[in-house]
Amino acid sequence: MKILGVDIGGTSIKLCIADEFGNIETFQEYDSEAKKGGPHLIHKVISIIEDYSGFEAIGISTAGQVNIQEGSIRYANENIPNYTGMQVKSIIENHFNLPVRIENDVNAAALGENFFGNGRNFHHFICVTYGTGIGGAIVMNSDLYRGANGSAAEFGHIMTHPRGKRCNCGLQGCYEMYGSTTALVQEARKVYPDLLDGRAIFHLYHKGNESLQLVVHNWIEEVALGLTSLVHTFNPEAIILGGGVMEQDDLVTMLANRVKDNIMESFSNIAIIKAGLGNKAGVLGAISLHTQKNIGRSFL
Ligand SMILES: [Zn+2]
Repeated sequence: MKILGVDIGGTSIKLCIADEFGNIETFQEYDSEAKKGGPHLIHKVISIIEDYSGFEAIGISTAGQVNIQEGSIRYANENIPNYTGMQVKSIIENHFNLPVRIENDVNAAALGENFFGNGRNFHHFICVTYGTGIGGAIVMNSDLYRGANGSAAEFGHIMTHPRGKRCNCGLQGCYEMYGSTTALVQEARKVYPDLLDGRAIFHLYHKGNESLQLVVHNWIEEVALGLTSLVHTFNPEAIILGGGVMEQDDLVTMLANRVKDNIMESFSNIAIIKAGLGNKAGVLGAISLHTQKNIGRSFL
């Protein structure tokens, strides 16, 4: 069975055709032009899908909070104007006359790892993704835990600094204000104002730049602080770290060591590893919404 997966983000639309085992036949990336708004975005997704044929179902991973029963966007921020409330599932379903399932992008990425990536060998794991903010997903008994409103795993907004920096969410001292890649870049720019991104920071870090080593080590402490609470809360078999910055094996090793120093002895058999699917996790997760293992579970 061939399935088409789409991953709709604020920057790009990724499209993939694969079988139910996650073997990829086609993978393409397109500019999402998200600022033109939700209706334009969905129109673009439809015209992209129209270029392909030979698939029997469509899985969608999308930015924003998703009502998976209704197949609608519960909330999307200003990155995609007028996306909130769109009935994405029924629009695509009616257009192509094929079964469509939809999931939030962070959950979809976790499902991708669960079925085809580094989560395959675990029943209980959490995914934490570092970028502009910090996103997360919880896989419990090999299934997603969504919470009462589908909003579980907002790890970026657990509070690690009482009365700390003001966050976009309106609270103060949220984890992502200290542990995100954005936070790392902000701290590094206090030393080198021209630094662009995490890649540039780690380039200088690896060259032995002392002031940046301090910045990076302080940031690792912040990242480990949040992860320590997550380990004690969920007692997972594994934490899977995502986001471009976590592509570096030595960073994952340093973080794993710091977390293991922090946690209680009885939790220490945890695996702290990086995500295995890179930028294809979301589309493969979208495809997994139609795989045999998922049918009959909470995705229907
Ligand atoms: Zn917050």
